[in-house]
Amino acid sequence: MVDKVYSVCGMCTVRCPIEVEVENGEVMFIKGNPHDPGMAGALCPRGGAGYALTLDDERPQFPMIRQGERGEGKWKRVSWDEALDYVADRLKGIMDKYGPESVLWSDRGGPFRDLHMAFVRALGSPNYCNHDSSCARNVQHAAKSVMGMGRKDVSYDYKNCRHLVLQTRNIFEAINVKEVNGVLDMKDKGGQLTVIDIRANVSASKADNFMLIRPGTDYA
Ligand code: SF4
Repeated sequence: MVDKVYSVCGMCTVRCPIEVEVENGEVMFIKGNPHDPGMAGALCPRGGAGYALTLDDERPQFPMIRQGERGEGKWKRVSWDEALDYVADRLKGIMDKYGPESVLWSDRGGPFRDLHMAFVRALGSPNYCNHDSSCARNVQHAAKSVMGMGRKDVSYDYKNCRHLVLQTRNIFEAINVKEVNGVLDMKDKGGQLTVIDIRANVSASKADNFMLIRPGTDYA
């Protein structure tokens, strides 16, 4: 019997909602969650390849603890309980020696960061940072100073956009399925697309107006 399991794609940081067909505990097929109108059942090729990842016998299949020196290639298979106890002991040893503030948690941002922040706070450390600390900082600061909120505190309503300007943002060759679906819907509804880029890319090929600029002149 085939079951449908609803989950989140972990193949990149976008984290698209997925529907997974599972038979006898094995993944048979992965598609975008059809109940999510933004996904409409679609998935990027990498998301679909999540199925192949489950079959990859070269990836670690269980927790292992290194034996001997780094690089020696000696590993011991352990249970998840043993692995978690090992990590907890090491972490506790560091905190006993250097204090809880010696621990810093850094992640990619996006979903689940509340869990990470709660965990690091429970350890007694205020030190949490993520990808957003170093990437897209200028966009983040600009959004905060202009709108009073960060760039991720708004979601872009591409579908109902009447004129979308993509400045060096090659949305059709990027990795966000929902955004691509949204822009395609916008085009179907008669929305205009302007693309400003240094390359005639796929997004440019779908644009009503394309401005090919010299590299380095985009801000001007
Ligand atoms: S963009 Fe593709 S790889 Fe990334 S989360 Fe979505 S389906 Fe997965």
